[in-house]
Amino acid sequence: MKTSLLTLASCLAILTTQIMATDDNSPELDPTQPVEDLAACALPSHAATTALEAFQKSDEEWQKTLSPDQFRVMRKHGTEPAFRNAYWNNKDTGLYLCAACEAPLFASGEKFDSGTGWPSFWDSIVPENVGQTVDTSYGMTRTEVHCKRCGGHLGHLFPDGPKPTSQRYCINSTSIEFVQKDEIEARDLSQFADHAR
Ligand SMILES: [Zn+2]
Repeated sequence: MKTSLLTLASCLAILTTQIMATDDNSPELDPTQPVEDLAACALPSHAATTALEAFQKSDEEWQKTLSPDQFRVMRKHGTEPAFRNAYWNNKDTGLYLCAACEAPLFASGEKFDSGTGWPSFWDSIVPENVGQTVDTSYGMTRTEVHCKRCGGHLGHLFPDGPKPTSQRYCINSTSIEFVQKDEIEARDLSQFADHAR
């Protein structure tokens, strides 16, 4: 009896370790940041998104054009770590396109420092390019946002941004490509140049 109790205790200890180990996929959070700022953004999404027919590709096809990180975030609704991503602190002027299909999405003119460690925007330069779904995973109701053209997951939208919209698009850096102001014309994006301020 004593032996089986010991065996049971060891099994529980191993199980607990394994459960804790499976948490390795969670992003590492900055302990100095308020939890309420990070919690919702840091979790992956389970929302299903749709894409225009021309951009409906299989996982294998997407893996040929996206980096492993982009594939994990954009196609599998993952999240990158706060403060350890390309654009959270980017203050250069320019535009942000979808990293998968180059749809114009955001700009430096609407970017603000949210303190969350992810690039944050109070508006999109082409709102019709940003699709929304209701994401009820992890016991929360969040608004998932994705590129409407290719269906790539971008991040989440929260109603706690600055004026004038009071919106906060919390976006993964790996889901967007930054175009510097002096490259805008060459990329045929002049119509959005006013947003690169
Ligand atoms: Zn796209």
